Amino acid sequence: MATTPAPGRTPAEGPVVLVVEDEQAIALAVARRLAAEGMRAHAVGDGQAGVDAAARLQPDLVILDVMLPGIDGLEVCRRIQAERPVPVLMLTARDDETDMLVGLGVGADDYMTKPFSMRELVARSKALLRRATRAREAAAQASTASPDLAPIEAGDVLIDRAQRRVSRAGQDAHLTPTEFDLLVTLASSPKTVLTRERLLAEVWDWVDASGTRTVDSHVKALRRKLGADLIRTVHGVGYAFEPPASDE
Ligand code: CA
Repeated sequence: MATTPAPGRTPAEGPVVLVVEDEQAIALAVARRLAAEGMRAHAVGDGQAGVDAAARLQPDLVILDVMLPGIDGLEVCRRIQAERPVPVLMLTARDDETDMLVGLGVGADDYMTKPFSMRELVARSKALLRRATRAREAAAQASTASPDLAPIEAGDVLIDRAQRRVSRAGQDAHLTPTEFDLLVTLASSPKTVLTRERLLAEVWDWVDASGTRTVDSHVKALRRKLGADLIRTVHGVGYAFEPPASDE
């Protein structure tokens, strides 16, 4: 299927957003709404077209349905991310599908369960775009050795913020960019309970409270990769980083 530019008034400038969704009504509604928000939105209807369009358009953001004909959303996400890092907002059919996908470490940055509100989709898309801009600025600053990028050491956990690498007991852990940002935010205030809402605001730049499942799913992924003892759940409130004792 050819790339469908959003009908109506697609702006000549603004961030490029690729929508990969086989339900045409949803794809067009999303693309049209994003165009109305000043984004250059393009929609394609299957996985291979998504991979091809990502290579051609070099989008600033990809909105990706999980269940696609041909190559599914997981594989599309992997292939797109393998080419170059780009924020991915994944659309899932059920809440538990979000947990499953984060657990697999597919590398999407945020998840929304269908049916979703268009207003929320726009807000989260804008938050992801802001984050990507901030990350680029931080990377530019890192080359001038900013002191707030000093490594964080907590017991056997070493977080190298300049290189964006994490190890525990000398073993490298492979985190997605979002998992890394979440870990740094938690570890910067050890033994302090951070609410889900605050984590959403600081890591996802998202001020509404309705994305808390994304936080929970990413905490699960961090525990799986770094050990269950590192992040404590404070029920009904949020999470706290617990530095492991250095002598065991
Ligand atoms: Ca679908």
